[in-house]
Amino acid sequence: MKSATYTPALPPLDRPTGWRPMDELVPVNVSGSIEASYDWLIVGAGITGLSAAMRLGEVAPQDKVLLVDARPVGWGASGRNSGFLLDLPHKFDLDHPDASRLRKIMTLNRSAIGVLKEQVQQFGIACDWSEVGKLQGAVKKRGTGMMAKFCEALDKIGERYEVLDRQGCAEIMGTQYYAGAVFTPGSVLIDPLLLVRGLARNLPENVMLRDDAAVVEFSGTSGRAEAKLRLPGGDTRTVSAAKVILATDPYTREFGYMRNRILPTITYASITRPLTAAERGRYSGQMNWGLTPADAGGTTLRMTADGRLLIRNHYGHAPKYKADGAYLAKVAEVHKEGLEKRFPSLGDLPITSTWGGVVSLSGNHATFFGEMAPNVFSANCYNGVGMTRGASSGRLLVDLAAGRNSEALEDIIAVSGKPSVLPPDPFLSLGVSGRMKLVEWESRSEL
Ligand SMILES: Cc1cc2nc3c(=O)[nH]c(=O)nc-3n(C[C@H](O)[C@H](O)[C@H](O)COP(=O)(O)OP(=O)(O)OC[C@H]3O[C@@H](n4cnc5c(N)ncnc54)[C@H](O)[C@@H]3O)c2cc1C
Repeated sequence: MKSATYTPALPPLDRPTGWRPMDELVPVNVSGSIEASYDWLIVGAGITGLSAAMRLGEVAPQDKVLLVDARPVGWGASGRNSGFLLDLPHKFDLDHPDASRLRKIMTLNRSAIGVLKEQVQQFGIACDWSEVGKLQGAVKKRGTGMMAKFCEALDKIGERYEVLDRQGCAEIMGTQYYAGAVFTPGSVLIDPLLLVRGLARNLPENVMLRDDAAVVEFSGTSGRAEAKLRLPGGDTRTVSAAKVILATDPYTREFGYMRNRILPTITYASITRPLTAAERGRYSGQMNWGLTPADAGGTTLRMTADGRLLIRNHYGHAPKYKADGAYLAKVAEVHKEGLEKRFPSLGDLPITSTWGGVVSLSGNHATFFGEMAPNVFSANCYNGVGMTRGASSGRLLVDLAAGRNSEALEDIIAVSGKPSVLPPDPFLSLGVSGRMKLVEWESRSEL
């Protein structure tokens, strides 16, 4: 039975990540002939798609796999994020009262970190892999209240943590801005762009990556799925595959699935140049730490090992998957002020890049994992924290599709769900922007 054919809107050619200079963002592989038929087609070479591809090298080395992306690896959210590989449940997951659910998420996250660590070591991927844990910080009363909630969740699952007061925070971060923070040791900090590009350069032999090939038409069938690929210069190829993994996060709706359940949401980050020797002299904190906000509407902050500051905050609805240019300029100003009020002694520290990145959220905070149509698999709606969840989802989607049962597969199914139906436009756009403005206003003390 043939299903409808969809013509996905492609990821925009917007301003990509600022982690590395733009000229490093070229495709990893543009050669190798594309055949007409594959055992597996993976669309999307972010952390989810790359992890699926790696897994296929382990469990189905005889299968022919094509991994495509419309943009160079790292162009999407997987190369634009703040670089926290989180081991603990985060954000909305913390609201869940069931301790066994929290433990399952933690086990999945830790296993993903373990696998990524092995890959980083095996392939010598230089991505500033730093096992330094993370801070969950609060600026004012609203944040400290949420910090307490985080501690309660950690107590429930018997995880160790340390609560820092203002002075404790200042000793690490060199700023008196934070009233307190919870330190947990298990998260890892990375340069996300270097991680995903390193994985892409070391794919198994049975996987061919083309990160210059956009899927411009797609039809899932109960037999084989078909995708029309567009290559630079306008050439096209049609491929069919027995199994498809749509590792396309918010763009999954462009392929005809969960069109009214996935909410494309943008968040923004800025990064500075490395501190000069004189600035380092005036900076009283340590190098290489990361803080996520106790209040999800607050600010993420990092000091990288090479002395760059990264700041991330603000959310918006992004039906076109990109930032509005004027708003991006406004966010750059807000980020500059955010750094100045935290680090007054560093003065006018130049931001080298400000960018937005699109992730998918769901109305009920459920993350999707599973088979969307016969032989078409996807994981999405990581609700803004998809690096470890994406890594475990990619691997376990392969296991699901290949019929390989495991406790990890049972766990990910148990903690996933179906994103709720969103209202139609214009109610959706109005409702979402109103809600996001409200969250921003409520969280203003934590920005
Ligand atoms: C600023 C920012 C900070 C963040 N910080 C963190 C963090 O610190 N920790 C964390 O865990 N998460 C963080 N996230 C979220 C995290 O980056 C995402 O959840 C995760 O990267 C999703 O990975 P993915 O592989 O599923 O999707 P993506 O990385 O979005 O990959 C999807 C890919 O599909 C490709 N694609 C789409 N349509 C097509 C098509 N038609 N043809 C071919 N290819 C197509 C896209 O080009 C893209 O490369 C952050 C996100 C942002 C934007």
